[in-house]
Amino acid sequence: MDNKMPNFLTRRAFLTPERTVVCFQEQSLTFKELYDRSYQTAGQLQKLGVKNGQFTAVLLKNHLDTIVILFALQLLGTKTVILNCRLTAAELLWQLQDSQASVLIVEDCFADLKQQFTEQLPTLISVTKTMLFAQEQVQPKLLEEVSLDEICTIMYTSGTTGKPKGVIQTYGNHWWSAVGSALNLGLTDQDCWLCTVPLFHISGFSILMRSVIYGMPIVLHEKFSEQKTIRDIKDKRVTIMSVVGTMLSRIVDTLEDERLPKEFRCMLLGGGPAPLPLLKTCVEKQIPVFQTYGMTETSSQIVTLSPEYSLTKLGSAGKPLFPSEIRIERIDGATAQPGEAGEIVVKGPNVTSGYLNREDATAEKIRQGWLYTGDVGYLDEEGFLFVLDRRSDLIISGGENIYPAEIEAVLLAHPDILEAGVTAVDDKDWGQVPAAFIVTRNGRDIPVDELQQFCRNRLAKYKIPKFFYLIDRLPRNAAKKLLRRTLRDWVNEGRFR
Ligand code: ATP
Ligand code: MG
Repeated sequence: MDNKMPNFLTRRAFLTPERTVVCFQEQSLTFKELYDRSYQTAGQLQKLGVKNGQFTAVLLKNHLDTIVILFALQLLGTKTVILNCRLTAAELLWQLQDSQASVLIVEDCFADLKQQFTEQLPTLISVTKTMLFAQEQVQPKLLEEVSLDEICTIMYTSGTTGKPKGVIQTYGNHWWSAVGSALNLGLTDQDCWLCTVPLFHISGFSILMRSVIYGMPIVLHEKFSEQKTIRDIKDKRVTIMSVVGTMLSRIVDTLEDERLPKEFRCMLLGGGPAPLPLLKTCVEKQIPVFQTYGMTETSSQIVTLSPEYSLTKLGSAGKPLFPSEIRIERIDGATAQPGEAGEIVVKGPNVTSGYLNREDATAEKIRQGWLYTGDVGYLDEEGFLFVLDRRSDLIISGGENIYPAEIEAVLLAHPDILEAGVTAVDDKDWGQVPAAFIVTRNGRDIPVDELQQFCRNRLAKYKIPKFFYLIDRLPRNAAKKLLRRTLRDWVNEGRFR
């Protein structure tokens, strides 16, 4: 066994050429059409110097051509560094340097960035999308078989806890992620997955891989719109959709008393903690929510909760997918007892083998085949995972562990609070105490004693923030995740107090 499989798109276009792979705006493509376009584009890319084995970066929005380019690169067997379009020029430049990509493919709308990058990285070849869709025929040298150990993509983590790291995702990681998901969610010939999340993020890219592996159509949106989502779920017979919490709450608000069609069977919710009131509302409105836990390193979800447990296991992220394993490790290295919190460590064929050009981070995070996620959580008696928070954000006050996410969730239940971020402040008596940064609805001024009273009714005394700061906006990264380390820096720099 050499652990090889046929090239995914080539195989799919051979098996079910006439089936639809994607609908985007008014256009749609079959697998055969996608293959033909990707083949043609692979020829153009080859002519421009793109080769098998090379690291090729792409900076592309959600679009039909993006799908064609991503599969053209797989036909050639390049390693695709997928860049996040929302990053600043400096952040992108850092990732281009870090990945040592030799080619960059960009949208025409990023032309000014393209110039900056090539000035700074003279060996970088840059290609715009228009250059790729010339009519001339060039026969590419195709990668007929892929090794499951071969690198398919490099995707950077969101950079919530530090500098982003380039995660190595192999063909095997994507394959097993798709298989694990299908074994859990099931698959029917009526399935159609709506992708309104970015293709440059694992949440979007994994939908594309599932489409080709399953032979399932997807509906692609350029960006998320709750109205368009609801319309397409009905009109285009969508059955599954991937969402993060904020998207789901906008869908729920827009639906009002309306129901989604009964054919719609799965709202796959991931990316961060899910607010309990939202989950309860979804149960009431019969929206089938599958909560998930996953990260760039696990090539999408690794733990999922089915809707039948939505209420009995409210707030749990569920159980691991069939091919994956999960363990909670205490600080002393022993496996935690049920109910006991510790670091979440995971293992499985969908889990990365390491970070690109980062031997130090790889050795720190992957030990004896287990990935140390840096997240803290516990398993209940039945093996359901409850994610508490990131280890690096833990607040230790008078020897008690405090999870900022718990305090943030309480604050968010206040009707006038729009956003909340909690971090540690050094304290001479307790070591650390929590401090809360709050954005209020319509800039309303909430008196501190009201906030304290609100927390007193819902939190143990030691968890009540000692300081409350009302601010206009919380610091967030390109994935819109809260940057608690910036809040910590603000406090340490003495900007608040
Ligand atoms: P970096 O690794 O650079 O700090 P990041 O961890 O935010 O960035 P991602 O891979 O995009 O990068 O996010 C994965 C993280 O998101 C998880 O490790 C976890 O902290 C958080 N997360 C994902 N799902 C859940 C969930 N169901 N509940 C709580 N947190 C979650
Ligand atoms: Mg991470």
